[in-house]
Amino acid sequence: MTTISANLQATKSRIAAAARQAGRNETEITLLAVSKTVPPPRLREAAAAGQRAFGENYVQEGLAKIGALADLGLEWHFIGPLQSNKARAVAEHFDWVHGIDRLKVAERLSLARGADRTPLQACIQVNISGEASKHGIRPDEAAGLAEAVAGLPNLRLRGLMAIPEPSEDSALARRRFAALRELRDALNRQGLGLDTLSMGMSHDLEEAVLEGATLVRVGTAIFGERAQA
Ligand SMILES: *Cc1c(COP(=O)(O)O)cnc(C)c1O
Repeated sequence: MTTISANLQATKSRIAAAARQAGRNETEITLLAVSKTVPPPRLREAAAAGQRAFGENYVQEGLAKIGALADLGLEWHFIGPLQSNKARAVAEHFDWVHGIDRLKVAERLSLARGADRTPLQACIQVNISGEASKHGIRPDEAAGLAEAVAGLPNLRLRGLMAIPEPSEDSALARRRFAALRELRDALNRQGLGLDTLSMGMSHDLEEAVLEGATLVRVGTAIFGERAQA
């Protein structure tokens, strides 16, 4: 077994254990392998171990890997901050986008995606940590943005994404994740039909799964520590 396949197994075991503790079925939770800074051969290794969904933060780096690994038929998620001038490339090449926090960017994504493709799967990023985070829409503005994004023709709004402030405090992490879940539930009571909670990373995936995550974004625990950029 390679290190990457062993790490994938260990990560899935953590997800399964947390799911059991929460009385959930582990099959409800998608593991997204976050591969920023990781070179293509190591993604190939993860794919050989059965990993299908990969997350990238930087457009140029992501496009290069999508090209290099096109033979594998992988699913690509853009999870970085989104700039309007990068919207076209993201809409054309990725399957999912997690960081929508402005209508203008969502409109550009929808336009660039076009009607001839399957819709781009989308999550709205919510700032659940208040002052501590600079990305994401304020929770009290999420409903308005969600309604607008749900109305765009070539996006399919799937749910919410959050990155809480880094913390060793497990109880705080759970409160942040619970807040995202409660917001998703409130939007669903307005009829939005959101099935995705994109939350939890290498250090806090258990807390996220306990609070209802349906997709965890895990880099370090699969590929090892990243070199400092
Ligand atoms: C880098 C990154 C991750 C993965 O973080 P790890 O701590 O390496 O698991 C998850 N989500 C986003 C948005 C990231 O930028």
